[in-house]
Amino acid sequence: MAAIKSKLIGGNFLFSETDIKDVFIPEEFTEEQKMIWQTVYDFCMQEIHGMGFEKIALMDAEKDKDKVYEIFKKAGELGLYGISIPEEFGGMGADFNTGLLYTEALSLGLSFATTVGAQVSIGSLPIVFYGTQAQKEKYLPKIATGEYGCSYALTEPSSGSDANSAKTKATLSADGTHYLLNGQKMWITNGGFADIFIVFAKIEDDERLSAFIVEKSFGGIEIGKEEKKMGIKSSSTVQLFFNNVPIPKENLLGERGKGFNMALNILNNGRIKICAGGVGGMKFGITKSVEYANQRIQFDQPIAQFGAMKYKLGQMAMLAFINESAVYRVGADVDKKYKEFLANGATENDAKINSMREYAIECAILKVQGSEAICWTADEAIQIHGGMGYSMETGVEMAYRDARITKIYEGTNEINRMLALAEFYKRAFQTKELKINDAAKSIPLGIAQNFNPFNNGFLADETEIVSNLKSVFMIITGAAGRKLKTKLVDEQEIVMNLADIMSVAFMAESAILRVKKLNADKNTDKDQLKIKIKMTQLYVYEALEIARKAADNAIDSYASGVEKFTMKRVVGSLLKNYDINPKNTRRAIADAVIEANKYPF
Ligand SMILES: Cc1cc2nc3c(=O)[nH]c(=O)nc-3n(C[C@H](O)[C@H](O)[C@H](O)COP(=O)(O)OP(=O)(O)OC[C@H]3O[C@@H](n4cnc5c(N)ncnc54)[C@H](O)[C@@H]3O)c2cc1C
Repeated sequence: MAAIKSKLIGGNFLFSETDIKDVFIPEEFTEEQKMIWQTVYDFCMQEIHGMGFEKIALMDAEKDKDKVYEIFKKAGELGLYGISIPEEFGGMGADFNTGLLYTEALSLGLSFATTVGAQVSIGSLPIVFYGTQAQKEKYLPKIATGEYGCSYALTEPSSGSDANSAKTKATLSADGTHYLLNGQKMWITNGGFADIFIVFAKIEDDERLSAFIVEKSFGGIEIGKEEKKMGIKSSSTVQLFFNNVPIPKENLLGERGKGFNMALNILNNGRIKICAGGVGGMKFGITKSVEYANQRIQFDQPIAQFGAMKYKLGQMAMLAFINESAVYRVGADVDKKYKEFLANGATENDAKINSMREYAIECAILKVQGSEAICWTADEAIQIHGGMGYSMETGVEMAYRDARITKIYEGTNEINRMLALAEFYKRAFQTKELKINDAAKSIPLGIAQNFNPFNNGFLADETEIVSNLKSVFMIITGAAGRKLKTKLVDEQEIVMNLADIMSVAFMAESAILRVKKLNADKNTDKDQLKIKIKMTQLYVYEALEIARKAADNAIDSYASGVEKFTMKRVVGSLLKNYDINPKNTRRAIADAVIEANKYPF
């Protein structure tokens, strides 16, 4: 394939400025895409919320398995499982960003969102991305309708984060027609009712995993009891035991020994979807919270009027807006990259796989940011509801419990912070896809800009701050890397600090680009724009706080003496004070939410 000269390079946000014309913003979703959102939203409201929060909160995958399965089937009848399955195999063949919008709406399905999510994402995408024509023809149409439930089986009791150390083994039969699968998997979503399992196992004495499409009907699969979990209680989570399961040779998925890469790439997909789901959850949590805060009277006034409550509402709305800006920016880039690969002669499968892989850094960032934002929002939603937040009746305690898993699965947040950095190092120093040397040359300019008293233009200060955040990331990464060399990867505390600086730069930039694009469009609603600017500014203010703390921690942890003094001065001058009034900014955002009595952006 010809070498691609492209602007679409994952991680390149660190080294280049994105033109607003190249960025997708959520305000650009088409009517057709919004209809998909609406269909999923209506399904969640009717079939799930319709049961009442208390009933759902008390549901359990073991006790209520018939009801869970009934809802699972109903979603299939409505065609909800076909979103990412190509049309020729009975699906909708929607693009990736539409899939993210679908996931946003799906988050309203509470723990059932995990069930549908596993079906449309990790359970079926391995076949969509890596399957042969015959495998796609055989399985995808039945997955699209829900005739087949599916699940993804990577984790084992002794291998979680260290997934490649899995012990499940496949050995080729004497006549060479099939593999015999033996081993155990744990925490398998949808495992209680799935007909198809994507199982990762090592063939013979291979060092690396391979993947298989395993049908329950092959026999030899024992399904464990439903796990008793903290949240997402109605979603099925079981252990699987494989005892000489015969798998026809043609059910090897992708190439032998390439399963680990496949697993990681499918997880990239799951990671960004956690952020999209988080956005949906946050918007819903904000609406529930403000509805309550507007009608709950204490000290003769609605609690929404208290500054302490406005702080929470303003902060929640800002987090939803920032994550939304970033997640759909990346989703659209994945779609563009996919088309670019196709135009350059890639096969459909390769284009899908490589466009997703391209944005591994961004997917890891979004997974962490989205999950931490939804967990914080759910916690504060309980606080706004006071005692009622602790009651099953309002649904917010369930949202809090359900949200907590997002920091654990699809790779824990620690692993994802490390991954973002590891991928950055790989691209900067091994494959050299990222032009780190050119960027390093521009760092002194960044410092010089800091002293520019003539900064002007729309969001000029904020834009400069993002550029400085990137410079700070580069300076500390470079200096710590020179000092610690390969030992830097073992200094995980510093790696986490660096990941945080990198992340806030990306999130802030995404919101700034969105608002700049809106500002340039004469049709933009000016009142909404005012608040969107404030949300962006509030995040920039917070990003600086996060980056200052992370940078101090990193420098204090690796440097000493003159180097420490110099680094602190340089970083301190880059992360200068940003002059907004955070209280008034949050209040203005909260007032817009309070007036609309919902998340209105
Ligand atoms: C409800 C639920 C549903 C799930 N669904 C699925 C599914 O459908 N399919 C599937 O295959 N798996 C599934 N999982 C498994 C999930 O992906 C794992 O739980 C997750 O990857 C973490 O693995 P672990 O639980 O073994 O934790 P561990 O890997 O043991 O991690 C424990 C702690 O150690 C930290 N840690 C681990 N390694 C390192 C390191 N190198 N450096 C620093 N810190 C480290 C982690 O960040 C974490 O804080 C599910 C889990 C749950 C709870």
